[in-house]
Amino acid sequence: MAVQYLLALAAIATSVVAAPATSQVNCGGGRTVKNAACCAWFPVLDDIQENLFSGATCMEEAHEAVRLTFHDALAAQREGKFGGGGADGSILAFSDIETSFQANFGLEFTTEGFIPFALAHNVSFGDFVQFAGAVGASNCLGGPRLQFLAGRSNISQPSPDGLVPEPFDSADKIFARMEDIGFSPVEVVDLLSAHSVSAQYEVDTDVAGSPFDSTPSIFDTQFFVESLLKGTAFTGNGQGGEVLSPIPGEFRLQSDFAISRDTRTACEWQSLISSHSTMVSKFEAVMAKLAVVGQDPRKLIDCSDVIPVPATAKVQVAAFPPGKSRADVEPACAATPFPSLATMPGPVTSVAPVLD
Ligand code: CA
Ligand code: CA
Repeated sequence: MAVQYLLALAAIATSVVAAPATSQVNCGGGRTVKNAACCAWFPVLDDIQENLFSGATCMEEAHEAVRLTFHDALAAQREGKFGGGGADGSILAFSDIETSFQANFGLEFTTEGFIPFALAHNVSFGDFVQFAGAVGASNCLGGPRLQFLAGRSNISQPSPDGLVPEPFDSADKIFARMEDIGFSPVEVVDLLSAHSVSAQYEVDTDVAGSPFDSTPSIFDTQFFVESLLKGTAFTGNGQGGEVLSPIPGEFRLQSDFAISRDTRTACEWQSLISSHSTMVSKFEAVMAKLAVVGQDPRKLIDCSDVIPVPATAKVQVAAFPPGKSRADVEPACAATPFPSLATMPGPVTSVAPVLD
């Protein structure tokens, strides 16, 4: 099947030529871009918003789109030591191989859903993964507007297994793996802002859709607050990388627990609680880097102007969930006091799963 996709799309690989950016080009329908080549992405945008993201929502498919950008791009090694081409679309081109890896367990449902859109619009798998991730993230209230560069070749190789970090990996192992491809421990924290609009579907399938914070459709800083609260109960079966969570229905990954409390990253983690705008700008910066792992960005065309501007979140200040207070915090940053937060009013409630 993978070979078939390659043949069908091989022609795209050589067809991208970066046109000079000039004044605005009219794509029709009141839409303009800097580079005329980017007009071709509006039909893709309209199609996936309607038919993949159920009307531009920040639900399961949007979460999975962001997740897919990670699982495609992180499968790389600096200087190609052990193979893996990064953000090259290999996770779609060789989905049958890569979704058999433990770290990609369950992603076959996502790749099966995404592949037809890339084929229908004749865009490369590498571009499509990053485009869908950027559009999916933009559907979340308060979300980032991620850079989108187009023009990745559609020729890729299946990545080797073992390159994508797992929830049960130690902080040491995750940091070493990420440093392999040029991300510092602090940048790992910035990347984990994605968990503000995420849920787990595969770590424990019995509680599929259980989110990592209480506001999984809003790109806010609640994830960084709630992940520092003392865990009290398992939402799932307590295996495969799950640790105790502070809120019923919320799922806590062992890797998030470890990184939030690690001396190398605890202060970055805590610092993101107090500034939504900092969280957004840092996430945009690291995602721009992630999207071109294994690529030469100078050969790509900036089509970021096709990505929708996210709606603003109503509440932009972090707070303790109902029933929680400073007494429930496990602060881990020695250098700076934990910020002063209010407690949300209302009864303690369970966080609902995110399912389309
Ligand atoms: Ca890849
Ligand atoms: Ca959130």
